Amino acid sequence: MTEPFASLPFDNSYGRLPGKFYARLNPSPSSAPYLIEFNQALAKDLGILEHFGDPEATARLLSGSFFPKGADPLAMVYAGHQFGGWVPQLGDGRALLLGEILDPQEVRYDIHLKGSGPTPFSRNGDGRAALGPVLREYLVSEAMHALGVPTTRALAIVTTGDDVRRETALEGAVLTRIARSHIRVGTFQYFYALGDHAALRQLADYAIDRLYPDCRSADNPYLAMYEEVIRRQAHLVAKWLQFGFIHGVMNTDNMALSGETIDFGPCAFMDEFHPAKVFSSIDRQGRYSWGNQPHMAQWNLSQLATALLPLFHEDENEAVSLAQDSLGLFSQVFNQSYLEKFGQKLGLVLSDEEDEAFLGSTLELLTKHKVDFTRFFHHLTQYAQDDTHKGLEALFANKRALANWQGDWQARVARQVSSPLERHKPMRRANPVYCPRNHQIEAAIQAAYRGNFEPFRRLHAVLQSPFTPQAGCEDYEFPPSEDERVYATFCGT
Ligand code: AMP
Ligand code: MG
Repeated sequence: MTEPFASLPFDNSYGRLPGKFYARLNPSPSSAPYLIEFNQALAKDLGILEHFGDPEATARLLSGSFFPKGADPLAMVYAGHQFGGWVPQLGDGRALLLGEILDPQEVRYDIHLKGSGPTPFSRNGDGRAALGPVLREYLVSEAMHALGVPTTRALAIVTTGDDVRRETALEGAVLTRIARSHIRVGTFQYFYALGDHAALRQLADYAIDRLYPDCRSADNPYLAMYEEVIRRQAHLVAKWLQFGFIHGVMNTDNMALSGETIDFGPCAFMDEFHPAKVFSSIDRQGRYSWGNQPHMAQWNLSQLATALLPLFHEDENEAVSLAQDSLGLFSQVFNQSYLEKFGQKLGLVLSDEEDEAFLGSTLELLTKHKVDFTRFFHHLTQYAQDDTHKGLEALFANKRALANWQGDWQARVARQVSSPLERHKPMRRANPVYCPRNHQIEAAIQAAYRGNFEPFRRLHAVLQSPFTPQAGCEDYEFPPSEDERVYATFCGT
């Protein structure tokens, strides 16, 4: 079969690593691939738009039903700590790296199909994905990008024409995901656990060349790379907290070395604020709650350090001491980034312990009065510009508690050197009007299963400009009513 338009300018590097890094295999074809969504803007940015043909050819290509010339499909192997428990071998069980491309700036990206059929790492899974979780990942990852959070991107959704069996039979789909790389903390852990230090070094050299080339010239390139990963993760988690995002499954196999948010499973943006909020139905201990995410990132990074010890120094004690010194960077970078971001949200420069206490009491106020996180900061942004704005009052049953807080806030603002205008711009950029609320996502998914993709498309469109109020989109600002509330999302994705 000739499909002249469905091809991509692949330039594959991971497949040049030794065979123990992956299993090479072809995706399983789908019986009736159909293109639901294609991210034209992303394809254009990546410089690959002209390589896609008509929707039918694109659907075959991005469901794995047609192998373009130059593709080198492979499933990557990795290990990981899942909810703290060690699993020596995981790997891409329902995903394949189709190949890599270079964008016009020569930045290398993975083109990855999720839901493309079983692999040697599928264990008992079917290697498939249901349409719902694919829509969820598309919406949330693209919304994260619009919010300015580093993340993998979504290029396309193709339905397969084949049902997948979950609790019921659901329509199957494949997501095309784009990432700077799919190397995970768990990829390093896999080779460390095998005692294969040569492979560990090869992987680290590959990661440095691909993601952190500046580290090559450092005295200790592996330690320099490790510190760069720490910095990126610290900034990333601070951004998650800034927008009320809960990843849900911060296992070491779901932490990318690139510092991109990856693997959107039971993730969510909080409606009413509570620091201990979780969404994953299996996270009963609150391990990955909103407020515990910095600790968990640090824990994962300490696991990465353990895996990299043989590369840090030949003397183990020396290696451990280097790793410990570096890990200290996390809280330093995180705290600074967190205070900076919440300072922007509050329209204040937070610089000392008293400021931190004020931030703490603000979050306590939101917790105690069950206030919607996104709406609170959105209305504060408007109130900061015009103190007759009454939006905050509507969020509090207890008006006196709000008035007391407003008094404190006004007093702090009065002490700041910045002008209202200087304050307001960063506030607007720190406080979105819209975020992907779980009940909206759920409604879009349910409509899609009934064949109506309009709610998905509307929600996606609104989330592309999260900081700008959009006429006729007021519905998307609001938290769920009691009967729209979604309490948990599930891992059976
Ligand atoms: P996750 O929690 O989605 O990051 O997945 C954890 C591991 O389970 C990874 O190795 C996945 O590839 C694998 N996995 C998840 N769902 C499936 C599935 N439907 N079929 C095969 N493997 C799966
Ligand atoms: Mg995963």
